[in-house]
Amino acid sequence: MNEFRQSELQLNGPSPDQDLLRFRSGQKYKHSGRAPLFGLVAAAIVGFACAAIGGIGYCYCITKLHLALVEIVLLVGLSLTIGLPIGLIAFKFKIRSDLHLLGLTIAAGTIAIYFEWAFHPYFALGEKHRYIAWAPSDIWFWMKLLFAKGGEFSGWYAVAIWVAEILLVYLLGLGFAIIQIENPFCERCECWTERRDGVAVFAQPQIDHTDVFVRIEDGDFAAFQELQTVSRKAQSYLRVDMDMCPKCLQTCFVSLVSVDHKANDKGELEKNETKFFSQLAIDQDELATIIAAGKVDQFSSRR
Ligand SMILES: [Zn+2]
Repeated sequence: MNEFRQSELQLNGPSPDQDLLRFRSGQKYKHSGRAPLFGLVAAAIVGFACAAIGGIGYCYCITKLHLALVEIVLLVGLSLTIGLPIGLIAFKFKIRSDLHLLGLTIAAGTIAIYFEWAFHPYFALGEKHRYIAWAPSDIWFWMKLLFAKGGEFSGWYAVAIWVAEILLVYLLGLGFAIIQIENPFCERCECWTERRDGVAVFAQPQIDHTDVFVRIEDGDFAAFQELQTVSRKAQSYLRVDMDMCPKCLQTCFVSLVSVDHKANDKGELEKNETKFFSQLAIDQDELATIIAAGKVDQFSSRR
């Protein structure tokens, strides 16, 4: 674990412009909205190509299989085919703008749905009648035909399914894309922060500790000192996670997660995590305080 080596510390003073992009301690992280043009173009080319191929593949599968559950799995697969490449390229080319990802995913989702519909008569009709409905007017004609006398579904029931399909592709596609760039970005060093889970653990607050908890949620990190320490093997504890810039080691955000191990119906221990807050900016001294306050004996904390 030497990603945060001191030797990598670069203390070049930030320019006034960069200084504006720094977060106050306790402030929630938000992407700056910056999106390099080359990254946007790359994400569009790859994302749209994947969407077209995915749409045709999805159409082929749903016309061959007629099981509702399989169709839902295929729909998730199609959303993944759209969202994942867009998200991965966004990460690679440092796009830190959810809005740009929203635009890219909606465009890619629309392309996928267009190709699905264009190829539907091709896969659904017999060999002699098959055609590809390239023109929107052809798609409209095909839709009206299915509305009047569709196979499996028809009428408004079919329309409801088509609308749900489109909404799910947009929503899931966006989810798969955005999750790739959920790490905070250090605008000073132009790089993504790296995550380290469990830099400190604390006992769940007792009832008479609720005011401490409110202060912590408000970003008063000194209040952590008033919490009890606990072993990481405890059944229930609070875990502090950190996102830190590997270059400057200055840009840092912390998240607080409640971890609970509960026995399920089969008697197996299941881990439940609840986020109390995520990605609040923290300065070096405050971070050191939390880590020192959460230190338990080395034996129980070593994994
Ligand atoms: Zn940095």
